[in-house]
Amino acid sequence: MPGTRRGMTRTESDEPESRYDAGPFVPRRADLAALREAAGGCRGCPLHREATQTVFGPGDADARVVLLGEQPGDQEDRRGEPFVGPAGKVLTAALEEAGIDPGQTYVTNAVKHFKFELREERGKRRIHKPPSLREMTACRPWLTAELALLDPQVIVALGATAGKALLGSSFRVTRQRGLLLSYAAPAADGAAEPARPRSGPPLFRRSGNGYGSGMSLTFTLDPPVGAPLRDGICSLWADVANAGGAVGFVPPVTTAAVRGDLLKHLVAMDEGRARLLVGTDAAGEVRATAFLVLNEHRLMRHWLWLHTVMVHPGLQGRGVGRELMAAAAESARGLGGLGGIRLTCRGGTGAEHFYAACGYKEVGRVPDAIKVADDDHRDDVTMWLPLV
Ligand code: SF4
Repeated sequence: MPGTRRGMTRTESDEPESRYDAGPFVPRRADLAALREAAGGCRGCPLHREATQTVFGPGDADARVVLLGEQPGDQEDRRGEPFVGPAGKVLTAALEEAGIDPGQTYVTNAVKHFKFELREERGKRRIHKPPSLREMTACRPWLTAELALLDPQVIVALGATAGKALLGSSFRVTRQRGLLLSYAAPAADGAAEPARPRSGPPLFRRSGNGYGSGMSLTFTLDPPVGAPLRDGICSLWADVANAGGAVGFVPPVTTAAVRGDLLKHLVAMDEGRARLLVGTDAAGEVRATAFLVLNEHRLMRHWLWLHTVMVHPGLQGRGVGRELMAAAAESARGLGGLGGIRLTCRGGTGAEHFYAACGYKEVGRVPDAIKVADDDHRDDVTMWLPLV
């Protein structure tokens, strides 16, 4: 190298920041206070050079909810605290609206130093620049170490950078906004390790060709929940509702309109209160669903509810509905200790006759309990399948 002798002269490539890795700066077996202090000396990427200081997460170490932003802004950089600028005001209002006490959250960013460019606008102004994937990856060891110590129940990713920091570069706000996803716990030693969706093996799988004369579906209990499955379920539910199925939505509905209901079921599933049964065709398309919802009441834990029983309208009359009901009964038996399945349906649609053909008995009926329209009231019919 001209003008230098190897090993004698320090070049830019010798600087720690040229390696884009905060890992060597993250202390092992440190608590949050020690992490915060150590982050102040991080040189894991070049962002520290222009920024005022590291902005590390404050908040309750026992917080069940972590709010994860992108990076500090101008005011955060000056004050050394996250979400104290304009974005902080929006976040505070959103927490208030959601009924979440900010004091019981932990707030942090995917990238700990402020990235900006200077612009001549009424004097010199520091304008936010989004961190690159390389900078975000360099900073991830800090986030991983924080999450390992906090072990929160919920991490709210506030934007694309936060989502990518947790799920990788394939994360898209447009596809995954508002959805509840599962994550592997970060490594406890603070080693750089991205969070990944949790996807256990299916607990139940059977081919449906033993039921009826229809096409064969593969039924899976608790399939890994990813974007294709969520989108497939939303499409199925919207198709069923728009084809006139009495499934709780008033047509016309869009996939976006049913997504909120699906989210509630997925939250219950994530909390262990529900199990998802999905029937897919040979192409892997979602053609049937049912949620098996476990009872929380201590006197009713010996039976479960069956919700969102849906079969694609294109498969009606081909035995797929019976396949789904048989798979649901088999799944419930497989859970153990359950004496029955309960479901409700709308009277006057013929649904009770279908369920009766699947072995269910009508055990209750509330006249006119369902108001489809001002001049259209239907009975709410309760059906019961004994499992023993
Ligand atoms: S942005 Fe992160 S990795 Fe880069 S210097 Fe700051 S703390 Fe270290």
